[in-house]
Amino acid sequence: MNQLVPGVVFRRDPTAPEVPLVFDSPHSGTEYPEDFRFACPLAVLRTNEDTHVDDLYGAAPEHGASLIGALFPRSYIDVNRSPTDIDEALLDAPWPGELDPGEKTRLGMGLVRRLAKPDLPVYDRKLTVAEMQQRIATYYEPYHAMLRSALDRLHRKFGAVWLVNCHSMPARGSRMSSDGPDAVRADFVLGDRDGTTCAPELTDFVARLLRGRGYSVKINDPYKGVEIVRRHGRPGEGRHALQIEVNRALYMDEKTLARSERYAALKADLTHLIAALASFAVAGRGRE
Ligand SMILES: [Zn+2]
Repeated sequence: MNQLVPGVVFRRDPTAPEVPLVFDSPHSGTEYPEDFRFACPLAVLRTNEDTHVDDLYGAAPEHGASLIGALFPRSYIDVNRSPTDIDEALLDAPWPGELDPGEKTRLGMGLVRRLAKPDLPVYDRKLTVAEMQQRIATYYEPYHAMLRSALDRLHRKFGAVWLVNCHSMPARGSRMSSDGPDAVRADFVLGDRDGTTCAPELTDFVARLLRGRGYSVKINDPYKGVEIVRRHGRPGEGRHALQIEVNRALYMDEKTLARSERYAALKADLTHLIAALASFAVAGRGRE
């Protein structure tokens, strides 16, 4: 049974025999909430989306996997950040909870981002503490709850579960990225937080398959994976999580966000990856 929390999160369940495999797309949401009240141009804010990524992996249910995606934009609140990665400079009063701002907040893209792009603030106002709390309770937590319950159920049923955390990246770095403004990205970057969030066989399997189809692949450079794979990847318990970043130049115009003529070919290759991972997940049941 599919699930939908309007404006927040969707889950599409398998239409083929179920396998212990979940794809999640946390950054492809395009429903901008009424109370966002950003001050920068929407077109600039939208370049932070992983636009179309949910559709690129849209064949997952046909291969027995579940597909979970955020419907809100990552610039409103980012589910791939720690809930303590809060930029207190955004707030009109001290944060009453735990606070542990990290590197992402320093770069202007913590849990709620300060910058839409280098030197362009998202807001011309301070957010209230209540506003931040509401975004966490209404958007951040339901997304993680949907993901956690799907992974827990499959883990109970199969003894192991495999999560592919799906993102896209700009073709080039910027002053807000860890690799800097001159970096030219590979076609794919796989992130397993230096081998800590999944069995190495999963990372190897995906890298080999993509390279076999002619793509360049880097591992943990410059993206290692953030909160979602960190939180849900515990390979010692049979819970494996791998982040996949695909280069946006492979499938869309990065300015207009329109799909390019290469979109269908990339989607076909990702559908092939999904089918191969479904077999991998079944064969890898119970693997430590
Ligand atoms: Zn992303």
